[in-house]
Amino acid sequence: MSTDIEISQATPLEPIEKIAGKVGLTPDQIEPYGHTKAKITLPLKGTHQAGKLILVTSINPTPAGEGKSTVLIGLGDGLNRLGHKTVLALREPSLGPVMGLKGGATGGGHAQVVPMEDINLHFTGDMHALTEAHDTLAALIDNHIQQGNALHLDPRQIVWKRVLDINDRALRQTVIGLGGRTSGVPRQDGFDITVASELMAVLCLSEDLTDLKRRVNRILIGYNTDKEPVTVGDLKVGGAITLLLKDAIKPNLVQTLEHNPAIIHGGPFANIAHGCNSVLATQTALQLGDYAVTEAGFGADLGGEKFMDINVPAVGQAPDAVVIVATVRALKYNGGVKRADLETENLAALQKGSANLIRHIHSMQQYGIPAVVAINRFTSDTDAEVALLTKIVQDLGVAVATTTEWADGGAGAEELARQVVTAANQPSTFKPLVPAGSDLMTQMTAITQKIYGGAKVELSGKAQRQLKKFHERGWDTLPVCMAKTQYSLTDDAKQLGAPKDFTIHVREFSPRLGAGFVVALTGNVLTMPGLPKHPAALDMDIAADGTITGLF
Ligand code: ADP
Repeated sequence: MSTDIEISQATPLEPIEKIAGKVGLTPDQIEPYGHTKAKITLPLKGTHQAGKLILVTSINPTPAGEGKSTVLIGLGDGLNRLGHKTVLALREPSLGPVMGLKGGATGGGHAQVVPMEDINLHFTGDMHALTEAHDTLAALIDNHIQQGNALHLDPRQIVWKRVLDINDRALRQTVIGLGGRTSGVPRQDGFDITVASELMAVLCLSEDLTDLKRRVNRILIGYNTDKEPVTVGDLKVGGAITLLLKDAIKPNLVQTLEHNPAIIHGGPFANIAHGCNSVLATQTALQLGDYAVTEAGFGADLGGEKFMDINVPAVGQAPDAVVIVATVRALKYNGGVKRADLETENLAALQKGSANLIRHIHSMQQYGIPAVVAINRFTSDTDAEVALLTKIVQDLGVAVATTTEWADGGAGAEELARQVVTAANQPSTFKPLVPAGSDLMTQMTAITQKIYGGAKVELSGKAQRQLKKFHERGWDTLPVCMAKTQYSLTDDAKQLGAPKDFTIHVREFSPRLGAGFVVALTGNVLTMPGLPKHPAALDMDIAADGTITGLF
């Protein structure tokens, strides 16, 4: 079988105007970036019917791979093949992981969004705009301190770090302002990866430029010498930061290998942020299609929960069905099988590891929305394994379909598409996990018990002190955004399967006032990843004619 990039390069793309036209977008509603990418000009004119919303999530990610994006893209093509006008809404890849561990993040095999090189590399420049906007704010903060510090910002309590869209562990902790009186005030600083910037979360939750500016002004940059919060609004630079994002706020239109429309826009981390593509991308997909298919980062415990609790209120529409992607390999891994042995049939381990899938099905059912399990079939899966997993899911009374879009494109996802249409047209009532306005402790306890399957939440001394302060400041009823390892339902990455009776340990809170949530940090969540021993970059190249190789 060819590699992802070879398949993508072998497929002639249609002009972006043609893709836009398929969903009724006229040439004046798009701003082409070359021939195969475009920004969509919002707001869309005229009245539009809201389509059905399908959320694709998964079991806890494993090194064995689940193929969530691949299934999502195949499902979109499958729905279109069945005659349902479907538009995808996806996250933008971050360059750091592309060069590091992950390679491309545009699906795989015969289910991809294209042009994959462009989407994975610089795309339409949104990440660069976010990096520039974030670092402009950082420079304005340090300049304010240098120029007399009228706001009495405490250099030891600046919470706005710097960002780069590169995995660069050497920049995690830095000292800035060295070089004497004219080179700034020395202080400790550090870099995060761009997708971890609060600006990314802010951009993704904003409904328009006005809302974006309002949120930017609310962002907490640090505390003054009286320990009182200081925001971007206090610094009076909200307008400048927002204008740097004037194009980044517009959703990007591309196509799938089967020439169906896909909107790719925004990509916040699913641990320290909410992990969903922009609200504008989802809303636009809903306006343009009978079905909008979107995804949330990592597993149903992180991205899935945050989609329901943070994103749904912003989108203004709950999913009509949730697809939970699972693979035989990943469930065997959860059942204790080593990575090297995953290609050998092991029904006992599959049965054991399925506990992880069952937990996620129950979690998503808490929200009152029908679930469909997608078994993403790998060539090494045996018929007996697929039959066993199908039976495990069916015994729960839950719909299940085996999908082969990686090998077969949209044709391999038609059965899944049929099941999704049936599920999405059942009557369902979205139930939030807790009533809006519940305090942080109530929210965290509900998530721990109802989503993770754990028992209770424990706060460090620091977290307890912060909670008291947050109460005084009125921040303790903002939605919580749990920052937890993606590999386990617990806060310990090594605990696979579906552990019970565990405690979630909250070390610290981080208020993200622009995004409008409070991050609860459990364990050690890295906001600047490092590169692995053999970075994906080592296998990449470009030929004299511009042909790229090694981007997976
Ligand atoms: P996720 O969204 O879960 O991170 P992706 O959809 O990006 O996963 O897929 C990760 C990798 O796995 C891609 O390179 C893709 O080609 C590969 N992959 C996905 N599904 C299959 C499959 N059924 N068989 C073989 N490889 C697959």
